[in-house]
Amino acid sequence: AKGIGKGTVKAYQESMTETRRSSLTLESMLREAIDNRQLDVHLQPKVNLVSGEVEGAEVLARWTTADNERIAPDVFIPLAEQAGLMSRLTHCILVKACDAFTRISPFVPESFRLAVNISAGELADENLLKSLRRVLTEFDLAADRFEIELTETALIDVDINTLVSLKEAGFTLALDDFGTGYSSLSYLNRLPIDTLKIDRSFIANVPEDGSSSNLTRSIISIARDMNCQVVAEGVENSEQHAFLEKENCELAQGYLYSKPLPLTEFVEFVKT
Ligand code: C2E
Ligand code: CA
Ligand code: CA
Ligand code: CA
Repeated sequence: AKGIGKGTVKAYQESMTETRRSSLTLESMLREAIDNRQLDVHLQPKVNLVSGEVEGAEVLARWTTADNERIAPDVFIPLAEQAGLMSRLTHCILVKACDAFTRISPFVPESFRLAVNISAGELADENLLKSLRRVLTEFDLAADRFEIELTETALIDVDINTLVSLKEAGFTLALDDFGTGYSSLSYLNRLPIDTLKIDRSFIANVPEDGSSSNLTRSIISIARDMNCQVVAEGVENSEQHAFLEKENCELAQGYLYSKPLPLTEFVEFVKT
């Protein structure tokens, strides 16, 4: 049999080494960026569909390397997870989020909340709550100004006490990307969740696709039954907006209203 030529194997090995080397380099660059607090945050408004008020915002991590290259969160978040850097990353992001909150608070309503994403691994870290509280204390901010966004994956094996203690501290809890996981509703219903975020893969096909529209309607009604607030993610056009308004979805987030914005632009957005 012919098999793969030596040259091919060598090229393959070299490209493997390349990949390995470049991910190691990226990892050490990320480590350094986190330690020097060079990660940034952008804020994406959550808009009330009836009043048009900005009732909250999601904090999204941004990383621009020293040579001015922007790395997407879908790349550096998984990298940070693999490298065990998430608790440091979240600490850095929370510091920036608190700083942002302090600057925007004159321009937003009393009830305004900033939502921060927390990964599965961190929820299992017993120092999470202590570490979150320490940062808030530094900035003299109360936990009830913050929401924590968790995915279903993060909740699969969660110790309910972890969620209860976050709630008791004052945080509200949002279930992110709702509808994409495999958890049963009866399981989710036992968790102290305040908000359901409808995944943008459903919203993308609303209203022209009947099945996505039905699913979206169902999620809105499930949220109501669970006594949860509901947020639609990834709203990009006015047809989606009209559909969600008609179905009594409370809040929406997406490019139709605004992309995630740097702090100064976010302030301009809420001022006007
Ligand atoms: P996510 O939590 O589901 O965040 C929403 C993503 O949708 C963001 O992507 C946002 O920019 C994007 N988006 C918002 N509106 C629209 C829209 O109308 N259309 C489309 N197509 N996209 C929209 P981003 O910022 O690239 O973040 C990707 C993911 O990275 C996030 O998904 C989240 O899972 C993760 N991530 C980002 N920042 C953090 C962080 O600080 N901590 C953790 N643990 N994860 C983070
Ligand atoms: Ca999120
Ligand atoms: Ca999401
Ligand atoms: Ca997502």
